[in-house]
Amino acid sequence: MTRALLVGRYQPFHKGHMQVVKQVLSECDLLIIGIGSAQCSHTGDNPFTGGERLMMISEALSEEKIPLQRYIIVPLPDTNNNSLWVSQVRALCPPFDVVYTRNPLSKRLFEEAGISVREQPLFDRRRFSGTEIRRRMIAGESWEDLVPKGVERVIRTVDGVNRLKGVIGND
Ligand code: NAD
Repeated sequence: MTRALLVGRYQPFHKGHMQVVKQVLSECDLLIIGIGSAQCSHTGDNPFTGGERLMMISEALSEEKIPLQRYIIVPLPDTNNNSLWVSQVRALCPPFDVVYTRNPLSKRLFEEAGISVREQPLFDRRRFSGTEIRRRMIAGESWEDLVPKGVERVIRTVDGVNRLKGVIGND
């Protein structure tokens, strides 16, 4: 049984992330979706709480009818000390065989800990990017097409666009 870990901040979870989830699911038995910087919220780069991001992912995967037994969502708070991060991730997640990430720091830290790392391909990164989606929300442009319907619903429920506009600069 292969277990894969996919780490991201998911601020917010978008259609590019969904394509990665589907691809990694085709290569493993169990997908562990780690919500990075889970303690962060209410800033321009991290507007949504760990719990809100968990709801976004769970709604989006359920909409795609991905069976619950194929994935686990685990909130992963940051550590002040990079050298301790992988140990904390390991302590919070079920055991995993491989990590999927394109984040250079995460990649290095997992490799130094002897864990095998794969880079997933990028899916239309110009549009499917958390930075671009947050930029559009602040500018009053349309962002809804870039996220799964369930994610749009969660963002509306928590008044996410107005929150983001109100917290710019709190980073
Ligand atoms: P992200 O949400 O930007 O991206 C999540 C993953 O999806 C990344 O691998 C990214 O490359 C990929 N992705 C994004 N858009 C995509 C697209 N269109 N197509 C395909 N793939 C796409 O998150 P991130 O910044 O990579 O998250 C890393 C997390 O790890 C952060 O929360 C960071 O704080 C945490 N971290 C913490 C420490 C520490 O606490 N010391 C150290 C290292 C990393």
